[in-house]
Amino acid sequence: MKKSKRILAAVLAAVVSLGVLTSCGKEKVKPISEDGLELTMFMHFMNYTVYNDDWPIFKKAAELTGVTLKGTASETVSDSSQAFNTMLASTTLPDIIHGGFTNLNEIGKDGALIPLEDLIDEYAPHIKAMFEKYPQLRKRATADDGHIYYIPGSLSGMDAEALPSLGWFIRQDWLDKLGLEQPKTIDELEKVWTAFRNDDPNGNGIKDEVPFFSRVGGLGSLFHLFGTNESGYMLDEKTGKIVYAPITPEFKTAIKKIAEWYKDGLIDEEVFTRGGQCREQLLGGNLGGSTHDWFSSTASYSARYADSVPGINFIPMAPPADVNGKVVEWDSRTPVHGYGWGISKDNKYPEETMKYFDFWYTEEGSDLISFGVEGIHYNVVDGKKVFTDKVLNAEEGVPTYMRGQGQVETGVIRKFDAEYQGMTKEAQKGWDMYNDNGWCKKQTEFDVLNDEEVAINGKYNSNINTFANEQRQKWIMGADDVDATWDKYVETIKSMHVDEMIKINQAAYDRLNK
Ligand code: CA
Repeated sequence: MKKSKRILAAVLAAVVSLGVLTSCGKEKVKPISEDGLELTMFMHFMNYTVYNDDWPIFKKAAELTGVTLKGTASETVSDSSQAFNTMLASTTLPDIIHGGFTNLNEIGKDGALIPLEDLIDEYAPHIKAMFEKYPQLRKRATADDGHIYYIPGSLSGMDAEALPSLGWFIRQDWLDKLGLEQPKTIDELEKVWTAFRNDDPNGNGIKDEVPFFSRVGGLGSLFHLFGTNESGYMLDEKTGKIVYAPITPEFKTAIKKIAEWYKDGLIDEEVFTRGGQCREQLLGGNLGGSTHDWFSSTASYSARYADSVPGINFIPMAPPADVNGKVVEWDSRTPVHGYGWGISKDNKYPEETMKYFDFWYTEEGSDLISFGVEGIHYNVVDGKKVFTDKVLNAEEGVPTYMRGQGQVETGVIRKFDAEYQGMTKEAQKGWDMYNDNGWCKKQTEFDVLNDEEVAINGKYNSNINTFANEQRQKWIMGADDVDATWDKYVETIKSMHVDEMIKINQAAYDRLNK
């Protein structure tokens, strides 16, 4: 496995932190409860992940700690926020409540969760050490009343500010056939797409190629080439201020060009309606030329269609340099994800629960959530944890399979090494290229909104976004001319109180980052 400098740095840092953690007594996990303790837990999120008492990862944790979690959420309810509200209305709350930061903060301030600071100090040496080492982690867990109501978590460790997750892919065999190089600038990208469109790289004599397609619900990657986003609030690096991307001059430049590309047939004409199966349709059908998508899944298509699409070589490439000449990938991963767990007011075992939470921050806990259970999900080969074939060959892919084993986002720190191992060689190549070159941009991260901001956000946010999204589509599809309608559009968004929205997002940004 090729290791990049950045990852090596991360590994070294992890080793150093382990040194600290070891002094807290690492050898063997000491059971928290000798007689066994059962705690109830609510976990229902993303509308499809519901805690299952049979998850092997949590069963193993129960074996090690003596604490068994019993899920309270029902799988028959599919709407996570409905399940959350039903749970809150019950007479006795579950001992542990899992949820998104905003929800947990809200119910914490309302008294449904207890403050955790003293419990962390007394019973959670590993959480305490992580909070000290990574103040950002503590900040993300702290409500605006100064209390900590939940333990947060990370998908890939805390050491990298931005890890690759999505990247550009192109039909290298088409480039070769047409005698073209991978595009390194916006102009070259346009030339390549135009050639894909006009010069029949799939060789069927029909002008049926789709030069660029996108599965991930939008054309964000194209806006990024112009130094902006297709939606939402972001940091303007030139001024250090938060802006609403869809009303910036950069956005106007982007949308004009993207509309032109769409009109010229360079972008999938069904981009807004094609849906999740577009890679199957367009790569399987030998029609799609390039996209921007997840490394782990997108890298598998060449192998999948090797028989039906002879010569297919759909590989990761560098992001074309943006309008400022900078090679940058915007869709990177942040260290902290948005889910955690807290202790309810009805929990009679806060001390034991905090010790249980702390278990998940130990080396053993991190290994367990990252690699699963030894003998089932991984074996140790030459001193290294290696996923079993059952995991690596899982039909639904490694991440989905492991989720079904209990690898979920909560107050746990996952190790990037495990995820890397689960990727195909092709995906690893792309991932390494983006990581080694330092192309990934740090995301604009915001603190959880306070009560007043939540109210403002509730009043204005969705109206503004709905309006902007609709207009964006109209422009791309050519229903409205950008120049003719731009001023009126900006004016309308201003009348919808976007300045107040910018102000609260600026405040939330400042709280977390300053
Ligand atoms: Ca063709």
